[in-house]
Parts: sequence; structure tokens; C-alpha cells
Amino acid sequence: MKLEHYIDGAHVPSASGATFHAIEPATNQVSLTVAAGEAADIDAAVRAARKAFTDGPWPRMTGEQRAVILRGIAAAIESRDEMIAEVECADTGLPITQARGQAKRAAQNFRFFADVISDLGEDVYRVGSAQLNYVVRKPVGVAGLITPWNTPFMLETWKLAPALAAGCPVVLKPAEWSPLSASLLPEIMEEGGLPTGVFNLVHGIGETAGAALVAHPDVPVISFTGETTTGQTIMRSAAAHLKTLSMELGGKSPLVVFEDADLERALDAAVFGVFSLNGERCTASSRVLVERSRYAEFVNRLAERAAKVRVGPPADPATELGALIHPDHYERVMGYVRSGMEEGARLVAGGARPEGLPDGNFLSATVFADVTPTMRIFQEEIFGPVVCVTPFDGEAEAIELANATQYGLAAYVWTNDLRRAHRVAHSIEAGMLWINSQNVRDLRTPFGGIKSSGLGREGGRHSIDLFTEPHIVHVATEDLPVPRFGIG
Ligand code: NAD
Repeated sequence: MKLEHYIDGAHVPSASGATFHAIEPATNQVSLTVAAGEAADIDAAVRAARKAFTDGPWPRMTGEQRAVILRGIAAAIESRDEMIAEVECADTGLPITQARGQAKRAAQNFRFFADVISDLGEDVYRVGSAQLNYVVRKPVGVAGLITPWNTPFMLETWKLAPALAAGCPVVLKPAEWSPLSASLLPEIMEEGGLPTGVFNLVHGIGETAGAALVAHPDVPVISFTGETTTGQTIMRSAAAHLKTLSMELGGKSPLVVFEDADLERALDAAVFGVFSLNGERCTASSRVLVERSRYAEFVNRLAERAAKVRVGPPADPATELGALIHPDHYERVMGYVRSGMEEGARLVAGGARPEGLPDGNFLSATVFADVTPTMRIFQEEIFGPVVCVTPFDGEAEAIELANATQYGLAAYVWTNDLRRAHRVAHSIEAGMLWINSQNVRDLRTPFGGIKSSGLGREGGRHSIDLFTEPHIVHVATEDLPVPRFGIG
């Protein structure tokens, strides 16, 4: 199969004719030839989007009018959600049952932002009795959206829906390792009734197509999700035009288990938190910190549970852990497994390719115990099915260990002591905290991290703020006295 760009309503190859190959993670066989976008293709897409911004109807519609189309897009996704799940499963190695959830969430993203934009009021302030100040939010211009390969369709729609809701035409640059589901979007957008030129898609390598999008002078806002180091590169380039940036970056999120916690539930959360979505989840609970009195018991039970996680072909409904995205990424994850052993961590589960799966990027659910804060596997994001377990003595040490990395995306606290739960939650440096819970959240809440995990927040009103500029109008409702100068 051959994938092309989608620019100004037309499917087109790269101007240079360049292509690259994508592979299926379960077999590592080439599955696709994809147009490799370069600066000329990005420029064509930005020009189409810019024309839709300056001359087209989309930015001029009311929120309610745009919401009707966003709901049409949601319906178009829902009508093909099984196909989207199958595409995502084949292209990313995600287990089919989990890919189904991602497809449903993609439709929900559009319905949710249709509601957000319909309900959005404007801020009005009264100044004394004779003046009003009011805020008009205007779409900021062409939005550049750059997305990663983990749960690609869900994350693409998580950016597309608010950008479109806000009235911004877009250029999407999906990740090169997972290009397939994005190429379903043109038909979906057309079916939903989106005007031509508002949605543009350019495939390509990050350092080429992504970098050209970031550098383009007519793209005032970049919403990026990916690695911290890529975020830093993007920030440097975007500084030339003082672009608005949103960065959802890496994580190394702690799950803290106190001795009074409901151990069974904490264990369920730890297993699900790091082994679901193949461990390729930004908020994965990849460091488990356990109070020493329950440490040995927890490690044993976690190892037992990990050994039972069903690794298998992504398309098999029984599979819980599928294939990692790419052989390069597999090598990187295996490098961390080797590093953990070399640095003296105790491997208690997994660490190798499971039997019966000789091809593809399969790794058993892996647990390292006795991990210390100086080890690389404690400090660095592995982004695979590998969890580190570390003991702690008392609340102060739990907080110190939780905060001992450069990241600050998510954290999970398990305890039945109400006051301690809040105390610890407030002391951990993370953008998002869950107490006795896992990733469940309301989409209106701000999503994002602190420290090296990100910049800004997305979700609900926060995403609309990202894609709009406030214009403040000050109006006198009566003849106010104006100080008179220069009358002698
Ligand atoms: P990545 O940074 O390698 O790539 C992400 C995207 O950026 C891709 O589309 C890539 O082509 C593009 N890119 C690469 N170099 C670029 C450059 N110089 N200029 C512009 N674009 C460039 O990340 P990845 O490996 O695809 O994704 C995994 C990472 O994403 C992990 O670190 C994970 O934690 C993070 N992530 C974070 C969140 C969050 O919400 N915080 C969510 C999902 C994933």
C-alpha cells in the first residue's frame, strides 16, 4: 500500500517523489510505502491552510456551526471504529482490544470539543458604571500538530479536535513509525463536512518534515507530543518566530505504595499502569516505590502477575501485551534491560523474548527489583513493558524518591490514610496525580507535566486557549470624562 500527503483537499505525492517504508511491528515486514514530506510539501500544506484561514469560512463560523461539523466527524469515526482499531493494531502492535478503546476515544475527542466550543462563553468585565471590557477569542492561525507513534490516532484527534473547534486550519505531521491511521483522516474529515484546505496532512521524517513545519513563519502555534529531547530542539527552532508552544513530553511516573494500602488494588494498578498499551504510554507507572514492610511481598506478587501477562500477536483478542513499535525501539528497550542487569538491579520477571514469538518486537513483561536512584533504568524513560521497584522507609523518603528524576508528568499514591494521601500528592512534583486510582480523568481537566515532562496544558478550555488569542475590547457605555490636555 502507498500513502500520500493530503494538501488542499487532494492526495498528492511528495514534490521530490521521495518515499520511506513503514513496517508492521508483529512481523517487521515492510507494510507500506509512504510519501516522505520535505520543506516544499510542508510549504504547500501551510499555504493551503493559510488560505483557508484568511479567505475561508472556517475561522468565521460560530462555535456552534463548527460543532455541528465536529460531531459529523465523530460520527464518521464511529462508523468505521472497528476498521480504525484493526489498522492501529497492525500498524503499531497494540493489542486489538486496547486499540478498540483508542478508536472510541478518538470519536469522543471530537464530540467533547464540539461541546466545549458550543458552551464557551466570553469573559466580560464591568469597569465602574459606564465601561465594559470584553474578551473575544480569535483563532490564532495555522496550527502545526506533530504527534508520536504511541496511540497515534487518539493523540492526533486529541490535537485536531480542539484546533478545529477553535477555528484554526491545521497541518498534521504524524509519526513516521505509525503513519497508517492518519491516512484515514482525509475521508473522515470530508464525510464530516470540513471545508477544503482546513485539514492538511504531510507524512515524513521528524528532522525533515517536522522541522520544516516548526520553522515555517506562517505557523504561529505548534502542539507537539513526543520525546523531551525533540521538544527541546523544537523550542530552539520556534524561538525564531516566538511561536506559541504546547509540549507533552516524556515521563517516569512513580506509583507509591504505603504499608496501609489495599495491596491487591495497588498491584492491579501497577500491572495495568505499566504493561497496558505495551508500556508505550507517557503516563506509565514505570517506577513502583513500596514501603519496606510490604516490599518483599509486593515484589513477589508483581513478578507472579507479570509472568502471567499474555504476550502475543496484537490481533489476538486474548493478547494483553503486543509487539513494540519498531526494531530500533525494541533494541533501545533491550538496552535498558541489559543496563539494569549490569548496574545490579534484580530481574524478577521477563527480560527476554517470549517463547513461540521468534519474529516481531515481542518482550515479556519485565520487572526489576532493588532498583536504586542512580541506575539508568530508574532515571530514564524506557517506554516499554519494564517496571522498576524500589523500597522506601517512611513518607519523607517516598517523596524524595518520587521526585528524584528530571520528569514530572504523572504520579499515583496508594494509601488508606486520607491526610497522608493528600500530603504526599501535594509534595510530589507532577502535573497529574491519582490517589488510589489510575489513569481515569475528566477531559476538561488540564493534562500535562512539569519539569522535563512538558510545557503548558491541553484538555478542555486549556486546549482552546492554546489555539486562540484573546482580544480585549474596552467600550464606554456612556460619555465618560476624558482628561483634556492642550487646551491652554
Ligand atoms: P519523538 O520525539 O521521536 O517524535 C515525535 C514526533 O516528532 C514525530 O512525529 C517525529 O517525526 C517528530 N520529530 C522528530 N524530530 C523532530 C524535529 N527535529 N522537529 C520536528 N518534529 C520532529 O517521540 P516518539 O518516539 O514518537 O514518541 C514517544 C515519546 O512521546 C515518549 O517520550 C513519550 O513519553 C512521549 N509522549 C508524551 C505524551 C504526553 O502527553 N506527555 C503522550 C504520548 C507520548
